[in-house]
Amino acid sequence: MGAKKTPARMCVGCREMKPKNTLIRIVKTPEGDIKTDPTGKLNGRGAYICKASECLKRAQKSGALSRAFGTAIPEEIFTQLEKELSDGGQ
Ligand SMILES: [Zn+2]
Repeated sequence: MGAKKTPARMCVGCREMKPKNTLIRIVKTPEGDIKTDPTGKLNGRGAYICKASECLKRAQKSGALSRAFGTAIPEEIFTQLEKELSDGGQ
């Protein structure tokens, strides 16, 4: 029953379920650091966002990421995410 299907995750910007591989993962490490996780391999609690600056802005404005992690998100994380968006997720 679709075992090979890409799992869906919710974007913190538009709150839509999307295939995991179309989203960028953001992670809170066990040390409490917030990092972007383009490889999806870092340990910690993850949140996902579409590769769309619209969703990024929405998540920043609504504070959805801070809520997801229970901590403030450093400005540079958003800067870094924007960079990753313009790089096409490389
Ligand atoms: Zn989205």
